[in-house]
Amino acid sequence: MKKIIALAIAAMFILSGFAALAENGTLTLCTNVAFPPYEFYGEGDEPTGIDIEIAKAVAAKLGYEIEVVDIEFAQCIPGVQSGKYDFSAAGMTVTDERKEMVQFTDTYATGIQSIIVPEDSEFTSIDEMVEANGSVKIGVQMATTGDLYTTWDYEDEGKGTVDRYTNGAAAVQALIAGKVDCVVIDNEPAKNFVAQNEGLKILDTAYAVEDYAMAFAKDSPIFEEFNAALAELIADGTVQGIIDTFIPAE
Ligand code: GLN
Repeated sequence: MKKIIALAIAAMFILSGFAALAENGTLTLCTNVAFPPYEFYGEGDEPTGIDIEIAKAVAAKLGYEIEVVDIEFAQCIPGVQSGKYDFSAAGMTVTDERKEMVQFTDTYATGIQSIIVPEDSEFTSIDEMVEANGSVKIGVQMATTGDLYTTWDYEDEGKGTVDRYTNGAAAVQALIAGKVDCVVIDNEPAKNFVAQNEGLKILDTAYAVEDYAMAFAKDSPIFEEFNAALAELIADGTVQGIIDTFIPAE
């Protein structure tokens, strides 16, 4: 009997993550709030940005509230997978590896992996840095696609080292301090970091082009309705309207 009660309590704990959202109508969104303009602290220190406002618009359509939980990017997929958070919207690139772990909504934005270098750098690509110096030191945000791709292309090939930071701002500080030769990070955050810090520029050559989507657990009970509502907001222009408020036309 004791065993059955213990099992029942354990099952309640496991299910509680999903059960909670149905009861109190609040969806927990995990993200790293240091990735402008997708997520950052705005007025009154409230998390805002493209991902957060799109998520809020979808939630509002479905009658849910959103609670933003600020964690490291590397923890977002494990956190969603385990059911600790309802979903993640984190400028997250859709990749085949991640599809093994989570399910993605329709894509709502395009990302480009860009290369940030000191303003006086004479190089136009990472390969040129390798050629000139025999190797390169690359700064990235841990567990991002920038981390993955540069690890494959440079570290695994014996052409350099990849230094992994917990967020983009820390990687950019390492570049300013001369600890790395370049930073590989998504284009819009890259533009923000370059605007906020003197002496940096973005190379013209894109490193990779990718699609962003929100991630849910494979057994998420709200995935279908959330994705359907997102698809409607993409179709009616609401999503583009939100993107345009954060990325003014150049
Ligand atoms: N788009 C990149 C990725 O998915 C970076 C996302 C982020 O740092 N928030 O890996």
